[in-house]
Amino acid sequence: MSSVTTPTSTSDLLVCFGGDATPVTPNKMLHGGKAASLIEMTSLGLRVPPGFTLTTDAYKRYAAASDRFREIIWRDLRTAMEHLEHATVRYFGQGGDPLLVSVRSGAPVSMPGMMDTVLNLGLTVHNIESVAERQGSLFAWSSFLRLIAQMTALTHGDVLEKDKTLRKILNMQEKPDSAKEATHRCKEAVAILTTKNIPFPSDPWEQLWIAIQTVFQSWDNERAQVYRKLQKIPDDLGTACTVQAMIFGNRDDHSGTGVCFSRDPATGEPGLTGEYLRNAQGEDVVAGTVTPDPVATLREYDPDIYEELSNTVSSLEQKHSDMLDIEFTIESGILYFLQCRVAKRSAQGALRIGLKFLEEGTITEQTLLSRIHPDQITQLLRPGFDLVSKQSAGDPIATGLPAGPGATTGRICLDPSHAPEYDPWILVRNETSPDDVPAMVESAGVLTAHGGMSSHAALVARQLGIVCIAGCSTLKIDQNLGCIYIGSIKLDEGEWISLDGTTGEVFATKISTHKCLTDLDGQLSDVLAIADRSRRMSVRANADTEDQAMIARSFGAAGIGLARTEHMFFGEDRLPLMQRLILAHQDSVNRAEALDALEQLQTKDFKTLLRSMDSLPVTIRTLDPPLHEFLPKREDAMLVSDQLGIPVDEIVERIDSLGETNPMLGFRGCRIGLLCPRIPKMQIRALARATISLRSEGLDPRPEIMVPLVGSPEELRNTRMYIEEEMQSIDPNLEIPIGTMIEVPRACLVAKEIAKHADFLSFGTNDLTQLTLGISRDDAGSFLPKYIEQNIYTEDPFSSLDRSGVGSLMHLAVAGARAVKPDIKIGICGEQGGDPATIAFCEELKLDYVSCSPYRVPVARLAGAQAK
Ligand code: PEP
Ligand code: MG
Repeated sequence: MSSVTTPTSTSDLLVCFGGDATPVTPNKMLHGGKAASLIEMTSLGLRVPPGFTLTTDAYKRYAAASDRFREIIWRDLRTAMEHLEHATVRYFGQGGDPLLVSVRSGAPVSMPGMMDTVLNLGLTVHNIESVAERQGSLFAWSSFLRLIAQMTALTHGDVLEKDKTLRKILNMQEKPDSAKEATHRCKEAVAILTTKNIPFPSDPWEQLWIAIQTVFQSWDNERAQVYRKLQKIPDDLGTACTVQAMIFGNRDDHSGTGVCFSRDPATGEPGLTGEYLRNAQGEDVVAGTVTPDPVATLREYDPDIYEELSNTVSSLEQKHSDMLDIEFTIESGILYFLQCRVAKRSAQGALRIGLKFLEEGTITEQTLLSRIHPDQITQLLRPGFDLVSKQSAGDPIATGLPAGPGATTGRICLDPSHAPEYDPWILVRNETSPDDVPAMVESAGVLTAHGGMSSHAALVARQLGIVCIAGCSTLKIDQNLGCIYIGSIKLDEGEWISLDGTTGEVFATKISTHKCLTDLDGQLSDVLAIADRSRRMSVRANADTEDQAMIARSFGAAGIGLARTEHMFFGEDRLPLMQRLILAHQDSVNRAEALDALEQLQTKDFKTLLRSMDSLPVTIRTLDPPLHEFLPKREDAMLVSDQLGIPVDEIVERIDSLGETNPMLGFRGCRIGLLCPRIPKMQIRALARATISLRSEGLDPRPEIMVPLVGSPEELRNTRMYIEEEMQSIDPNLEIPIGTMIEVPRACLVAKEIAKHADFLSFGTNDLTQLTLGISRDDAGSFLPKYIEQNIYTEDPFSSLDRSGVGSLMHLAVAGARAVKPDIKIGICGEQGGDPATIAFCEELKLDYVSCSPYRVPVARLAGAQAK
């Protein structure tokens, strides 16, 4: 390589690497992940094709004023291209052996396959003949064909869509077999484009400029936007655009391309794994149009290169102390590195690999925890096949690559536009492309005929937690007949299949899936035990039944943070009693009998719940919803009248008198107990009896009583008085902590006064969000998604806490309460309590516990540790 005679550009907008470029420190936010890794590998002395990157700042300048961008960047771009020409001793647009470049996107956060790439730029109708003469016709014209195909797809996708002939000519899945075919297809394509008045650019600089703009614009294409929303990647990060000298894995039989991992992603065992494709370009592997060989086959073709690759990857892994994913290309026996990044991994892989690194002493417990995403814990708790149903399903009809773990069942769907007929549906394709991402997200699973573990379908499925089997080689799809063949078995679109994405097995029948794990497997419990050591807040569950309590306990819940007692009144044996209690005349025998019967049932309920959580706190909330929720509809009054022995006109009158225009703001919560206390009082007596009875058995029940919907200190003071009276009526020595929910904005503002009457506080962020934002939790579904689409809210505030609004109120409440009672226990029990971002906020507030649904408990255990 010659020395650089022109100054190499390094600015906030454009950064050169390789050749004689001034070394810079890699910066993912500015250079994007791809260029940052190239800059890093260059500085480590690895063989990286030279290049330059237009930074994310350049993207922002482009996005702000695309018409002025050429003026801003052009001089730097020319200088950077000269740097490349000097570094490679090849010249852009020349004949013979010109400089050819790739133009690729590269965001600060990996978005595999979501944005655009153009390869082989610099081949034109003017130099192609001479390139073919010097470098071989098949190679030259095939490379030109790929360039024409990519540029046309990106700039005139609509034309390609409509023109069947052009589409066939430019279909790179049908690789040209001969130079003659490649030449013919290129010439035909150029001729068709010319007749359509969109001639293929004959100036390489024009090609380069179009490609750069296309890559920048691809940041905002539909699939990238969908992906960002799903992955919660901010829209304003922008992408960098890297221009790099081309290296050709398809030059000859001593060339090839591959993607490898520094260790086995399934087991975490050190050593090279991955895929390699001889005499091919990287695009062939990612597109999934061919199924590559294991990387170990490279050892047979070229042991020296395998050794070099293996040693380099292992030293890169040591440097990063993490499993890496490396892209490489070999051109005529010389190995080049094209990308190095921390490898994506399945949920199981994350646990295994993390524990392995910990065992090897490479990382600390804290680092291990930081590398596991709470969503991965959710994935582990994903459905598997119901064992009985699987046994009767018979043998699998095919096995492919286990690309996305979990089990799923659905109807075959060959075209997402047919999906509504087939719900739940499994997308069956030869391979997927980035345009399929929205459909993949909607599907119950994905099955592809082609592609390896690093194909598009596999990458996207693993990252999004979609069950996927890729590279199922016996699968043949007949789109015209609307059917598939697996070996000799024919299945029509709409027929049921089931996929086991963990083993790669395909079944030609419907197999039920079991909902979730009810226990934690070894590695998950090891990791969560580590999390428990680092966590400060405890994690409880919202549970009302014994089953839920048992699951919560097996998932590691440290108690129940909310038992909604109203759920206990909806059973077949309870609802008539509840109705009788509400509908019967005061002082009637009917009412007294109903109350008595309910008290007995409730005592049993409480005993069961406290027994299943023995020695752990169980927060019992007294009745919360408006009474009319328990009543029959007006038109059913006659039926209920017969059942309950209450005259129908009395029932109708009662239903009418309890009806409310705004029930969520009406006669509910502590208001019921203060004005009409018979039901909450009955609950207190039942809880007291249950506690005493369990203690007499030698158990250690730890109930807590929680009062809902308190907005003023006086409400809690008066409620507390009747609760204490009722408890003492059962046993004067009985002490059960009494606390309140903080779920009315006013309660946050007067928390200092409320806390004086409370032993503990728990934020009910469902109602607190509803009342703070003025958005009905029951009706928000009709407009909230549109609000989120329009970025009025970035997230659903009922799933992830609205920090700036609701969070500010919580801040005030915590400060107020702790000013009078520094040690008062404070938790959260709204739905947001299982959301990692909300958990992080609760840690900032120094809450004592979060309480969430039983299945979120493992997620919260990890998220709580990460927050700490
Ligand atoms: C809440 O409002 O946050 C809460 C936990 O109570 P519920 O959802 O039962 O109203
Ligand atoms: Mg509530």
